[in-house]
Amino acid sequence: MLARTQHTVSAEVDYAARTVQVQQRVVYHNQSGQALNDLVFDVEPNRFDGAFVLDAVRIGDQPASSYEVTGRRLSVLLPERLDTGCTVTVALSFRLSIPTVEQGRRAGASGYFGYTDRQLNLGHWLPVVAWRLSDGWVTHDVLSIGEQTVTDVADWDVTLRLVNASQQAIIIAPGNETRLADGAQRFVHENARDFAASISDLFKMTSLVTQTGVSVEVFTLGDTLVNTERGSVSGADHVLDVATRSLDMYSDLFGAYPYSRLLVVQGDFPDGMEFSGMVFVGNGWFVNWTGGPQSYLTIITIHEVAHQWWYASVGSDQALTPWLDEALATYSEYIFYEEYYPDLRDWWWQFRVYSYVPAGFTEIEPVASTVYQFDNIRAYINAVYLRGAQMLHALREDLGTDAFFAWLDAYAESGRERVVTPDVLWGLLTAEQLALTEATRIGYLGTGAVSP
Ligand SMILES: [Zn+2]
Repeated sequence: MLARTQHTVSAEVDYAARTVQVQQRVVYHNQSGQALNDLVFDVEPNRFDGAFVLDAVRIGDQPASSYEVTGRRLSVLLPERLDTGCTVTVALSFRLSIPTVEQGRRAGASGYFGYTDRQLNLGHWLPVVAWRLSDGWVTHDVLSIGEQTVTDVADWDVTLRLVNASQQAIIIAPGNETRLADGAQRFVHENARDFAASISDLFKMTSLVTQTGVSVEVFTLGDTLVNTERGSVSGADHVLDVATRSLDMYSDLFGAYPYSRLLVVQGDFPDGMEFSGMVFVGNGWFVNWTGGPQSYLTIITIHEVAHQWWYASVGSDQALTPWLDEALATYSEYIFYEEYYPDLRDWWWQFRVYSYVPAGFTEIEPVASTVYQFDNIRAYINAVYLRGAQMLHALREDLGTDAFFAWLDAYAESGRERVVTPDVLWGLLTAEQLALTEATRIGYLGTGAVSP
């Protein structure tokens, strides 16, 4: 069992000024098998102009003699070699100026790190230790398509203090929450790939406990009622219903959800976004909802819930092999409809996939493309998500349904709390199954080979 990195964070959020003053202590255990001369962090806020100002870096109780922030990469030179099996403590002191959601969108981050007059979102706001391979630290160039960070799971102990906010404003975040005597909120979120939070003075909450005892909590920005032929119905109730059922279903298929809570938050920005124990579903999906399951409100909610397995639990390189989590999250949408709305199976393929990727359509990159192979998001989604879902469905037909789900379950188990490469997925097939699926791999990946 590997010792996880521990993050202890104390942050003051000035809601009116949209700034956050942060003290972050990181305890890193070197389990790389190599001596390290430096420690490298991914610092997502630094992809936005002026959003991240680093005041101080300390190693142990001494100021760091040398460190450098370039793009999203913070490299800290260690005063002495860190042998494998040894531990180092790095303390970061920094100030965040949160961009508007519009500024964030122009930088390709869709608003999960940004504010509007209704909400302030802290997604990927804290530096995380980069993924380490035998030939060095893995950090990828910033791009406005997809995600590009790769990180191990860690333990988070985060105390947030809200100032310059109305009485109604609250901070929501995953993990076990305690309210401190001075009003600050402390969240302990262990075994998580990230720690996100959201703040608003409009939040309304509705919740349910799943069959397996998980509290599913939906936070919306006020009422989400729409008028239908059946009368007025609530988007929040619908999201709660499908989030709860999908969480139960995926827990059944892919292994237990590891936390006691799942937060589903109406994001005041487009699309949606996954974090460990918390997901955003974009405002537009609520506003344009027509009252039933044939909707992006349903699709995006269950897609983000599926990322609790395909991203939060089983990590992968989001820049170089984005299909590993996105194709699985997209295909997980289909199996939810198959289970709960079998009459809508054809609708899902038509609406979600064939309207963008018609059968016989060849002007498309292979499923196993990197994010850097695309110059627009639609082409990226078509190749990686939609053709990826078609590939998984074809693999299911090759293997048979029972063997297919046994394979995905084995992958979820073998990748749990790790960062994996595609060979882990393919390596779980027998020689006979590899032969059965070879033509499908050639058709969608351009190669039958199964190495990384
Ligand atoms: Zn996704």
